[in-house]
Amino acid sequence: MDFFETGVDTFKREKLKERYDVVVIGGGPAGMSSALYARRSGLSVLVVEKVAEGGQMLLTNIIENYPGFRKITGDDLAKKMKEHAGMFGAEFISGEVVRMEDFHSDEKKIILRDGRSILSKVVILAMGASPKELGVPGEKEFKAKGVSYCAVCDGHFFAGKHVMVVGGGDTAIEEALYLSNIASKVTVVHRRDKLRAVKYLQERAFENERIEFIWNSIVKEIKGDEKVRSIILENVKTGESVEYPIDAVFVSIGLKPASEMVRGIVDTDDNGFIFTDENMETNVEGIFAVGDVRAKPLRQVITAVSDGAIAATMAARKYFD
Ligand code: NAP
Repeated sequence: MDFFETGVDTFKREKLKERYDVVVIGGGPAGMSSALYARRSGLSVLVVEKVAEGGQMLLTNIIENYPGFRKITGDDLAKKMKEHAGMFGAEFISGEVVRMEDFHSDEKKIILRDGRSILSKVVILAMGASPKELGVPGEKEFKAKGVSYCAVCDGHFFAGKHVMVVGGGDTAIEEALYLSNIASKVTVVHRRDKLRAVKYLQERAFENERIEFIWNSIVKEIKGDEKVRSIILENVKTGESVEYPIDAVFVSIGLKPASEMVRGIVDTDDNGFIFTDENMETNVEGIFAVGDVRAKPLRQVITAVSDGAIAATMAARKYFD
């Protein structure tokens, strides 16, 4: 039996204990590594995940920069991480945390949308982040009708079509490269004349014959009928607007943190990313934050799992020794 297949049946329990040592909110890589390290420190751990364990990894096709795996799909890595944490006895439930009460006490109360509540001494916030929206006319109207935030999820609808990717970061360029295997042409629209993405992604995109770039341009409007037909771009240098026919628009302009639930409880920056100290603890004792929801300089799977390891270990030392 494969190492990761052992213990599979330990994590799909829906029965809740009344009290846990650690509740992890969010089941991305940061949350799963928190759970694994907390269990190995002998603590009882519950991971509450709203959608599906894996977080942003589930929106990623191939991961090539997680040490030990030269190439692995986001889906596979998520599955392995969940199985691994489950193997050590972490419990997982599906549910959405809507509120936290008594957060200064030793019995922090975590309330789920379905009315269930759980008490925990330590809470690890691992809610991650989701794609930012452009906020232009047509964007909301054409969501799922040609406007998408995930090439891996929606790219296959546009086989042989001409698609646009908006943004110049790692995500935008990875999306463009992925789409270049499906679409006939990919146009990347960026608001500056230099990409933010790491060099090796830039080089791959510049070498790719199916990818072209429109520089110094922002999206003003997305137009269509029952689906996207065109996009209006404005050149920020000349002020000139041009309408381009297009079949789909993939928006990849960064992330917004899923921290609404703890606004007013823990300190955040202006964009809502949660501040922590080097032990991943927030300004509230016993509340830690890890992964993409945290204010940090590098958002990667590897930094997410590192945050989780630090938070769980430091929580065990500080609150359970
Ligand atoms: P990001 O690094 O914040 O880049 C966002 C891009 O969108 C930037 O190029 C930015 O332009 C542009 N942008 C922002 N707001 C815009 C707007 N309103 N209109 C037009 N363009 C706009 O976001 P990301 O690419 O999603 O990456 C998020 C984090 O995940 C980063 O830390 C990244 O390194 C990491 N990541 C890593 C990998 C990997 O290692 N393979 C893959 C994906 C993501 P400017 O450049 O002008 O600011």
